[in-house]
Amino acid sequence: MPWNRPLIIVLLVLLLTLTWWRLQPEGEEIRRSRLMMGTVVEIVAEGQEIEKLGTAVDGAFAEMERLDKLLSRHQQKSDVTRLSQSNDGGKVTTETAEVLALGLNVAQRSGGAFDLTLGKVKALWGLDKDTPKVPDQEALTAALVGIGPAALSLNGHQVNKQTSHLQVDLGGIAKGYAVDRAIAVLKQHGVTSAAVNAGGDMYLLGQRPQRSWRIGIQHPRQQDTVLETVQVHDRAVVTSGDYERFFDQDGIRYHHIFDPKSGFPARLCQSVTIITDSVALGDALATAVFVLGPEAGLQLLTEYPEAEGLIVAIDGTSYSSPNWARYRVTP
Ligand code: AMP
Ligand code: MG
Repeated sequence: MPWNRPLIIVLLVLLLTLTWWRLQPEGEEIRRSRLMMGTVVEIVAEGQEIEKLGTAVDGAFAEMERLDKLLSRHQQKSDVTRLSQSNDGGKVTTETAEVLALGLNVAQRSGGAFDLTLGKVKALWGLDKDTPKVPDQEALTAALVGIGPAALSLNGHQVNKQTSHLQVDLGGIAKGYAVDRAIAVLKQHGVTSAAVNAGGDMYLLGQRPQRSWRIGIQHPRQQDTVLETVQVHDRAVVTSGDYERFFDQDGIRYHHIFDPKSGFPARLCQSVTIITDSVALGDALATAVFVLGPEAGLQLLTEYPEAEGLIVAIDGTSYSSPNWARYRVTP
């Protein structure tokens, strides 16, 4: 039987994901994972009563599933699918409006490097399908006409599209938002120590009495190797990398983070990790900085005092923002 590409991706993500946990449970610990939002989502919660933890974790997964139904371009009835199919936009739910507002803000501040209008470009590359391919240049050029942050606007719950063929894609931010909401649900259930990881978009809740959470950041070129270890609590840690979803053709790696100027994969970075207070913001910033590259990326981060970043440039050189060192665990 030929290998199924999405399945391979899922298994790889699972392997990578496992390197992210460094836990010493206090009391009871519950650890569950599910396939959702195109990746493996893993939730770990710690506390004294295992039954309550189970209910909380189920609630967190249910919330993420609910959000996927609103935010995914693969769900027939999602806000995103409705917007993409409409000629000029339409009304969206509060959650979708929140994601769009944050995404449009990062889009604007990053000079369009972060772009929520790349749905058609993404579909042409087919990186979430069995047979990804370099698109026909004519089709790519046509897909880029009339899109970009200025072509999408939000007024309350009303979204307006300037170009009818514009397709919305929240793939660079929706997972992060869903992790934030999962953490909110865990907190509502009284959980004070937990970690949620959606394929590299994570939040670490609570200072653990003996030790904060320790996270090994994946080396972008050496599988199973930790690039750096950071120690955090009550923080989002989000990584975007060119090793997450890609195919090789004629010796060139084509991956899933696109430069909106060309419609081709961005070429300046191997990976970007952002530590900040919300996963949605970290998700959008990791993607934006990845596209901008080390110099402009670090410049963008100066506009977000709550965010720190570690950037591995395409030549393997690491750059970090001024206060990154406060999270770094010295070996
Ligand atoms: P991430 O793994 O968070 O960097 O997100 C990658 C996903 O974001 C891709 O699979 C696309 O759905 C979407 N995406 C790709 N390029 C961009 C971009 N320049 N701006 C915003 N979203 C993007
Ligand atoms: Mg992202």
